[in-house]
Amino acid sequence: MAEVRLKNVTKAFGSVTVIPDLDLMVPDGSFTVLVGPSGCGKSTLLRIIAGLEMPTAGTIEIGGEDVTDEEPSKRGISMVFQSYALYPHMTVKENIDFGLRLAKTPADERERRVAEAARILALTDYLDRKPGQLSGGQRQRVAIGRSIVRQPKVFLFDEPLSNLDAALRTQMRVELAQLHQSIDATMIYVTHDQVEAMTLADQIVVMTAGRIEQVGAPMDLYDRPQTVFVAGFIGSPK
Ligand code: ADP
Ligand code: MG
Repeated sequence: MAEVRLKNVTKAFGSVTVIPDLDLMVPDGSFTVLVGPSGCGKSTLLRIIAGLEMPTAGTIEIGGEDVTDEEPSKRGISMVFQSYALYPHMTVKENIDFGLRLAKTPADERERRVAEAARILALTDYLDRKPGQLSGGQRQRVAIGRSIVRQPKVFLFDEPLSNLDAALRTQMRVELAQLHQSIDATMIYVTHDQVEAMTLADQIVVMTAGRIEQVGAPMDLYDRPQTVFVAGFIGSPK
């Protein structure tokens, strides 16, 4: 079980409070998408869940356990960023395997997990290539592969597709939906792309200025926006 629960989370940088007092429930196994304008606190919230930032106040629970004071590597989460730094001198296989090698996972187990991730991500034929010999979409899949092999309970994605061109974004959207179906994990996904949010999410969280405006299923927000902001954001795709 890996629901994620934020209770009374506050975050201030110096004297500036960017998240005043936030409660959020992310159901186990859901594909939850966080949307909102630039600067509203989406990345900060992900970083707090990941343990890369400490909240000024409040608690974070993952799978019913309070992890507020737990270090990032012990939270059972994995984060995929927009700029995916692969090791250029290593093969795809070595890139995907890297974290497992650091964690001293036994060799046969590493072999098995890398093969499984490559299968899910259609990278089996590319394992011996270097990142420079891959397309942008394949490189992003390698970055996701590095997360998958660690078998996290929760995946955090921070605008993972925003560096890709439109056609590739559409393709990756389909692949991410398939990924969610094929592995048993909770996804929390940040984007400012309404189409991405509407097509990927089973729960959308609309944020503005560090607060949650509305939470609901995509068609819920579309049909019954509770604020003018939500109506404008969900109703008028770019
Ligand atoms: P988003 O991801 O929604 O664009 P962020 O979470 O990156 O928003 O930022 C939310 C607010 O917090 C912004 O005003 C940003 O300038 C501020 N902020 C983020 N990180 C820091 C930091 N390390 N120090 C000071 N201010 C920060
Ligand atoms: Mg951000």
